[in-house]
Amino acid sequence: MIDQVIQFLKSAQYIMALTGAGISTESGIPDYRSKGIGLWEKVDPAEMASISYMLSNPKEFFEFNIRQWSKYMDVEPNITHRVLAAMEKAGYLHGVITQNIDNLHYKAGSKNLFEVHGHLRTAHCINCAEKYNFKELVMQFSEGINPPRCTCGCLIRPDVVLFGDPMCSDFYRALEQVKKCDLLIVVGSSLQVYPVAELPLYCEKFVIINQEPTPLDDRAEVVIHNTAGKVFDSIAHKLNLYY
Ligand SMILES: [Zn+2]
Repeated sequence: MIDQVIQFLKSAQYIMALTGAGISTESGIPDYRSKGIGLWEKVDPAEMASISYMLSNPKEFFEFNIRQWSKYMDVEPNITHRVLAAMEKAGYLHGVITQNIDNLHYKAGSKNLFEVHGHLRTAHCINCAEKYNFKELVMQFSEGINPPRCTCGCLIRPDVVLFGDPMCSDFYRALEQVKKCDLLIVVGSSLQVYPVAELPLYCEKFVIINQEPTPLDDRAEVVIHNTAGKVFDSIAHKLNLYY
């Protein structure tokens, strides 16, 4: 099945990758949808990471989320992030669309990157829109300032898309990219969070590489149920890519 993917990679003209939490688990970031190790297993993600919860219970919102998010800052990209960046550099891939906010594609060197759920590099004040580095939030939180405050006195929030937020501009730009694609490589996404889960349907053809089955497996040209790291190690060897 990997050979079939290689054949597609060599023959398609405009290829993008769509990645989800499953590719970052090998860097030590838990996938909140995996059974047993799920970050969200005991809480409702739509509640804890929602805009309404942030506004109604800011202290609890940051207490829960900043502890998780701040862990991402020291995490390093793994083989999948690095191979995807190498594929872009070698001209196999036009770019990467990711649902992840963990910064790992950015760290791995992906250039044409669409972070459709935002990222944890920056933040802004919900009142005056003053921009901040995400580290400022972590610093304030660690000093006991919860919720983190702008100089105007209002709350600073990270530039991530929370449940209940409108999608960011990267999503609409990614959608335009997918419509141009003749191949989309879906990696490590359970394709359960909308509207991103529908993106593959806008593409001529797509393949899915994910440990668990997804709702779109029936519509994919190729489905590989394995860890992203193993599959991309093999892809890199077959394409003679250094990463
Ligand atoms: Zn402000």
